[in-house]
Amino acid sequence: MQHTQTTVLLINATHPEPPVIEHAAALLRAGELVIFPTETVYGLGADTLQPHAVQHIFTTKERALSDPLIVHIADEAALEALVTDVPAQARQLTHAFWPGPLTLVLPASSRVPKLVTAGLDTVAIRMPRHPVALALIRAAGVPVAAPSANRFMHVSPTTAQHALADLNGRVPLVLDGGPCAVGVESTVLDLCSETPTILRPGGVSLEALRSVLPNVQFSVREPSHLQEGQKAPGQLLVHYAPKVPAFLFDGPVEAMRKAILAEVEQRQARGEHVGVLIADEDFAAFQGSGACIYRLGSTLEQVASRLFAGLRVLEESGVNIILCRSFEAQGLGLAIRDRLLKASGGNVVSL
Ligand code: AMP
Ligand code: MG
Repeated sequence: MQHTQTTVLLINATHPEPPVIEHAAALLRAGELVIFPTETVYGLGADTLQPHAVQHIFTTKERALSDPLIVHIADEAALEALVTDVPAQARQLTHAFWPGPLTLVLPASSRVPKLVTAGLDTVAIRMPRHPVALALIRAAGVPVAAPSANRFMHVSPTTAQHALADLNGRVPLVLDGGPCAVGVESTVLDLCSETPTILRPGGVSLEALRSVLPNVQFSVREPSHLQEGQKAPGQLLVHYAPKVPAFLFDGPVEAMRKAILAEVEQRQARGEHVGVLIADEDFAAFQGSGACIYRLGSTLEQVASRLFAGLRVLEESGVNIILCRSFEAQGLGLAIRDRLLKASGGNVVSL
């Protein structure tokens, strides 16, 4: 792949500097790629309506062409041009959750290039809440197609440094607006099936969606059926994998702690370097264990925001295995479980 000089520009996350935004927007209009912060993760953006620019996203990420992109907009009026119909349910949801980490799958209009939707007749659309993302989309004046700014199959980036670690030398510009607040990707909700269905749990919880549409459905993807009945290509089993193998321990908190500690001891006795991804409440139990510890925090919000950083820090720390605890399947916990299941590629120890 051709080497491009990557410029990193710091940008104020709450009051983005207009000249910086204008520079980035001009690149997008010229068919170039820009990495920018959103409230979920960093995105690798291109003008949705220029197939050549969209093609560039796939080559830059080494992403499979069968994996469709999310289109980002800055106002609801932009929706009309991208879809053939805005169902009443969509209006209710956008009213409640946009701007925010909710992506809606709607019937695509003919204006949306087939590359964006991976040939599907539906398109995934969201309005991000991050001031930099909103300002950039507005200034560009086009819908911005943007997957996460990581190499395909790697962990999503929640800082500009993560994005650079994967894509430095492949894009002309990175806007560095600091760490992403939510830290897991958006919830993808399919409004084209008979019942609104969550295709990917994310930053808007199932409970919150049901408070607006009580019939929203989500079938918990347990490890045994991760590969069956994939509706969206993004639901590949290994999608967010770190570079070293990860194991997920699932069960009551005390049992998880004991099992992870026992595994740490066994592996260290064999000379292995072990990383553990735990909550603050587990820390005392692991102090002095000799494991490389990454603390995710004490609330689900903190855990979500630090999860991907934790996986990256541990994989760079020289450990040869990462042991993770699981979290309750409530609120943001559903998205956290989903990412941990994917990171562990089905290596789950059920207790
Ligand atoms: P990413 O932006 O890389 O986090 O991934 C976007 C995800 O959105 C994809 O991997 C799919 O799971 C989902 N997605 C995008 N477009 C569609 C669509 N038309 N139908 C269903 N899911 C979609
Ligand atoms: Mg992604």
